[in-house]
Amino acid sequence: MCPGYEFSYDSLNLEIFGRKPENMLIGNSLNCYAGFSTNESVRFNSSSGGLITQILIFALEKGIIDGALVIKMNKDKPLEPEPFIARTKEEIIEAAQSKYCPVPANVAVKQIIDSNPNEKFAVVGLPCHINGIRKAQQINKKLKNNIVFCLGILCNHTPNFLATDLFLQRYNVKKEDIIKIDYRGNGWPGFMRIETTKSTLKISLGKYWWFIGSHFFYPKSCLTCSDGFCELSDASFGDAWLPEYSHDNKGTSVVVTRTEKMSQLLCDMKNELELIKIDDNRITQSQMGMLYFKKKSLNARLKFISNSSKSQEVLNPDLIDYILSIYVCFTVLISSNPIIRKMLAKVPLRVMWLYKLPYSIIVNSINSKNMWKKN
Ligand SMILES: Cc1cc2nc3c(=O)[nH]c(=O)nc-3n(C[C@H](O)[C@H](O)[C@H](O)COP(=O)(O)OP(=O)(O)OC[C@H]3O[C@@H](n4cnc5c(N)ncnc54)[C@H](O)[C@@H]3O)c2cc1C
Repeated sequence: MCPGYEFSYDSLNLEIFGRKPENMLIGNSLNCYAGFSTNESVRFNSSSGGLITQILIFALEKGIIDGALVIKMNKDKPLEPEPFIARTKEEIIEAAQSKYCPVPANVAVKQIIDSNPNEKFAVVGLPCHINGIRKAQQINKKLKNNIVFCLGILCNHTPNFLATDLFLQRYNVKKEDIIKIDYRGNGWPGFMRIETTKSTLKISLGKYWWFIGSHFFYPKSCLTCSDGFCELSDASFGDAWLPEYSHDNKGTSVVVTRTEKMSQLLCDMKNELELIKIDDNRITQSQMGMLYFKKKSLNARLKFISNSSKSQEVLNPDLIDYILSIYVCFTVLISSNPIIRKMLAKVPLRVMWLYKLPYSIIVNSINSKNMWKKN
């Protein structure tokens, strides 16, 4: 079922939404919103606006679902993500926030397959998770009938485990001392919070993202992915990286709904959610860096790495995209070298920042001119 081996976006779009993708950047859509949960605590303790957590709680309380496939960090092994079926409000809240490490969401799918025939579920996942679920639904009736909706998470890439390991080393945190790790939460854009037997560290997203977001920690499969908006989910959720929300320290999400049942569910949540309709252009504007990576420079990267059969329409790359792709592929390639890994644990964050700076400046300038989007 792994979507990394073979995947047809057109046929799955036809099967799920009855039409091929209308918008090459975000896929099929019905409505776009920006908003947040009206529950201050849910909003503050989630990744952005707390919408995913709030929708799951509502669906559970209204009997729309009996459980949701979500991810928490394992209590005994706090650095390991644990996919599970949350069946209570408390469990859904416990699973809130983004986990910036590889997550084997498929291990909990078996619990849905083995569940009572009348039970209904929601699934939360990254594009690669949801695409795998969609393929599995094609051959497994229980998954098709019993999963009532899939909530997708916008995704640029998932950092590998090395990112967290080296980050802990640089802060002199021993893995065995860790009691709990939160990658997001505590308002927006939030903090990484590392609770150890000795102390609690709180590191702002801005600070650790230069490290964890560095191309040194990109899994190879993320280099071949063209789906940043989780285009086969019933609704997709991301951070509202827009100027009008940049001073909001509580958190706002952007949402794309793709199915009537999801649009209706959001309408029914008038008391639980604060949502405003926005243009799909504003949604793409909030994700220009990610869209450049997925839709504009993908084919340039694929010239340098082998790829399996995935068919999704993307834009043709220009010379500058090839140059930037050489930088990205070279960085991913050398990151597997043990000497480079040792160096990464030691180099000052400023050096890491400087290494990525030319790439960021060029991509920002390409995006600010909006040239590729107009083509
Ligand atoms: C690896 C990764 C990359 C991302 N990249 C982008 C991006 O490029 N642009 C952008 O705008 N937003 C990105 N996000 C999404 C963003 O961080 C928030 O998850 C999103 O805005 C939803 O916020 P929320 O407050 O509604 O979610 P919450 O209410 O906090 O709920 C989050 C839900 O997602 C589940 N979850 C968390 N991490 C994972 C995971 N790794 N795999 C599967 N399920 C998970 C949790 O169990 C929880 O149910 C990314 C998230 C992740 C995990």
